[in-house]
Amino acid sequence: MIVGGGSAGWMCAAACARVLHPARYRLTLVESDDIGTVGVGEATLPALRDFNTLLRIDEAQFMRETQATFKLGIEFRNWDWPGEHYVHPFGSFGQLWGGVEFQHHWMRARQRGLNPAPLEEYSCAVRACRRNAFDFPDQKTPRSTFYGYAYHFDAGLYANFLRRWATARGVARIEGQVIDVAQKESGDISGLTLKSGQKIEGDFFVDASGFRSLLLGDKLESAWEDWTHWLPCDRAWAVPCERSADFTPFTRSIAQRSGWIWRIPLQHRTGNGHVFASRFISDEQARATLLGQLDGPALAEPKLLRFHAGRRREAWKRNCVGIGLASGFLEPLESTSLFLIQQAIQDMLRYLPAPETGGIDERLSAEFNRRSDALYERIRDFLILHYVANRRHGEPLWDHVRSFPLPESLQHKLKLFASRGHVPYFKDGFFSRDSWLAVLFGQGLLPRAYDRLADIIPIDELDAKLRVLHACVATHAGEMPTHADVIARHCGESEALRVAAVT
Ligand SMILES: Cc1cc2nc3c(=O)[nH]c(=O)nc-3n(C[C@H](O)[C@H](O)[C@H](O)COP(=O)(O)OP(=O)(O)OC[C@H]3O[C@@H](n4cnc5c(N)ncnc54)[C@H](O)[C@@H]3O)c2cc1C
Repeated sequence: MIVGGGSAGWMCAAACARVLHPARYRLTLVESDDIGTVGVGEATLPALRDFNTLLRIDEAQFMRETQATFKLGIEFRNWDWPGEHYVHPFGSFGQLWGGVEFQHHWMRARQRGLNPAPLEEYSCAVRACRRNAFDFPDQKTPRSTFYGYAYHFDAGLYANFLRRWATARGVARIEGQVIDVAQKESGDISGLTLKSGQKIEGDFFVDASGFRSLLLGDKLESAWEDWTHWLPCDRAWAVPCERSADFTPFTRSIAQRSGWIWRIPLQHRTGNGHVFASRFISDEQARATLLGQLDGPALAEPKLLRFHAGRRREAWKRNCVGIGLASGFLEPLESTSLFLIQQAIQDMLRYLPAPETGGIDERLSAEFNRRSDALYERIRDFLILHYVANRRHGEPLWDHVRSFPLPESLQHKLKLFASRGHVPYFKDGFFSRDSWLAVLFGQGLLPRAYDRLADIIPIDELDAKLRVLHACVATHAGEMPTHADVIARHCGESEALRVAAVT
């Protein structure tokens, strides 16, 4: 039984319908038209393509129906200092040489006076972003030019798309407002009561009720761990505007005095939002800041959303798993919410009890929670990194985030990088080493020393290798067609796209 029909609820319903045998599992989703969804969540990570593959969704159809565009990364403007910018790409910077990571060779080249190009010029994805170009990664692409891609899409259209997909495959949808949640003596949830008086029973429950967290938070009292001292932004204004000619294959994130603004290009419009810390700016000022920076006329009234950074201590408690906003929230700086939803769904399916076993195996739910905790904490640290490494002195939000003691786990990563240019590598989960490097170098942090194993390459050889790599990346990215052209070809011509392809 799934409570909630936002992106979390319908992603979960679709994946369950795909993986669980209909003769053994009956799937029901309850959602309330009166309550509605948050209706934002337009930028994704490359892992979403795995989710589409799981569902066997045709990419072109999916992109047409959700008005999607391609995303090669995020451009951060003004984060370190007004006027500075960098891209966090979904791809590598250079490649391993002699088993040593590229950043060490690049640092060595700098320190030895070889005058290498800026780090970002060794990333194919960044160079494509700079040209507003896109192409599908080729399996035969050399490691040095590796990149992946994700999507931007219309969140409302995406939820509708998944709803059609899931209900066509046997998920029963009930419209109604849950007003009571019943428990057995054991404490497990046994059923729901709707406003209409209807009672629905179930064995296993997914709480996808959004920030309300009706089952996991309200009923089962899974404790909330607050992270607002590290991530103080707690509100956002969101508004769509007319599409501009600047049809970028990347999300743009522009730092502001008391937060940051997102800009997400879709086929039919541009999504915009101002994420801000309400203790440093009023709602009215934040709204005006957003409206003053739109590319084109607004297409709707701005919508105000309130949130807190943090997570539920136990995302799986008893016979209930919280997915999406019901289990936690991290601001959309790196587009991680849909990714967290996807990971939670996949892990839930991994550890879900078989109906005939008649109960939860607590070792499996504990493993789910351990993985969920690790993922949340790594993403949290990565987001904090964007804030702490700044030189925006004299601006209260930025002074606050710089001065606050960091989580131990982040302090460790920063010290490791500062002393020898290393970034911890995780086999599972996000973010990758190249992502950390993009933000660390992008925010102007430089290590004091590099890995001395890089010294095994003769310096002339290093110089030649860097030149060849630089040229190879430039050629590869230089041959890509424009983003607008690829979408028009892939998804079918539309008037908006034809205009973008010409401009
Ligand atoms: C400002 C902002 C920007 C974001 N941007 C991104 C982004 O770029 N990328 C990204 O990945 N994520 C982003 N997110 C997060 C993303 O929007 C959410 O993670 C995603 O939409 C999932 O939401 P949800 O389904 O958990 O909750 P919701 O969308 O709130 O859905 C909750 C559902 O529960 C139902 N419900 C609630 N109470 C009841 C009840 N009593 N009875 C019956 N039904 C009930 C509602 O009807 C609704 O269907 C953003 C979030 C915010 C706030």
